[in-house]
Amino acid sequence: MERAHALDPALANRFKSLARIIGNTPLLGVEFRFRGEERVIYAKSEQINMTGSIKDRMALYILQRAYADGQIRAGDTIVEATSGNTGISFASLGRALGHPVTVFMPDWMSRERSDLIRSMGASIVPVGRAQGGFLGSIRMAEEFAARKKNVFSPCQFSNAANVEAHESTTGPELWWQLQSNSLVPDAFVAGVGTGGTIMGVGRFLRSRNPRVHIHPVEPAESPTLSTGHKLGEHRIQGISDEFVPSIVKLDELDEVVGVSDGDAILMAQKLAAALGLAVGISSGANFIGALKVQNDLGRDAVVATVFPDDNKKYLSTDLLREEPVQDGYLTPAVEFSGFHAFKRVCHTCCELSECTQRLGPGAI
Ligand code: PMP
Repeated sequence: MERAHALDPALANRFKSLARIIGNTPLLGVEFRFRGEERVIYAKSEQINMTGSIKDRMALYILQRAYADGQIRAGDTIVEATSGNTGISFASLGRALGHPVTVFMPDWMSRERSDLIRSMGASIVPVGRAQGGFLGSIRMAEEFAARKKNVFSPCQFSNAANVEAHESTTGPELWWQLQSNSLVPDAFVAGVGTGGTIMGVGRFLRSRNPRVHIHPVEPAESPTLSTGHKLGEHRIQGISDEFVPSIVKLDELDEVVGVSDGDAILMAQKLAAALGLAVGISSGANFIGALKVQNDLGRDAVVATVFPDDNKKYLSTDLLREEPVQDGYLTPAVEFSGFHAFKRVCHTCCELSECTQRLGPGAI
């Protein structure tokens, strides 16, 4: 690794502006009745990040770190393998910071994803199943990076900075937002793509409350985490990408929760239709995963999750089609009644909704 160097002031200002439109998301307390019981599940509203997904946090943090460590220089090409949201985040941040971006992406991801990436001037290399699908995308991105000069590869599936992004932002925000309402999380639940969210938020929450349960979610139709390898197909884009990423440490996590993709679709549809929360399919999966964990821990358990993105990237998918209900689905038993949003602004040392100095609710 090269020596750290100071950022030029113009670039430092760009990073500062980007940091104001990424992260510090509101926490929603989603209220509902389930089999006659009044319940609440908490979800970070990650669809309101700059490009509409939680991956902006990781992309911003990795680029900041790469500049600080001298791993990236002005004008370098950013090259990444992604199932979509990461490509959109790097296309956007790359453009904002003056970097060309090349994305290797499986060719079965939604049309909206590739259109969005191209709209920000990035190049896409579509990778078919015959070329190795997701693993092929990663291999081809690595080969591209090895062949060319002046390339920066974020390597989201193996980069510890992906986990740190959530350990230093998403996790503390969630903790303080719950604390400011006199709540302590009993469990955090999230679908695993790279695993950055579950590992990073999990580590922060465990540092505050060692007894907190941390449950990864995977599609029941394609249980990669519980089997250790790719199995079957599923429709929850963004999670369970055919392998267990190296940043995922299953021995630090509690039991894997399986969620059917049809139930996830029905739940995402219901969140939009009943509450106006127009979220993506993995948000529906996360909500059902959180509900399953709450069913185990007790109706009053404080269970939190994330809504990773909104529904705009799925308008051409089954999310906008009628989904048949199957035995065992939980969505039909959920009746939403409303939600409350927590977002408090620090008036002491910064203007952000959650104090960047991590001074806690006393400073807010
Ligand atoms: N949901 C969606 C829609 C995503 O794009 C991703 C990221 N691939 C995730 C969930 C999972 O996030 P992570 O990579 O942090 O595990």
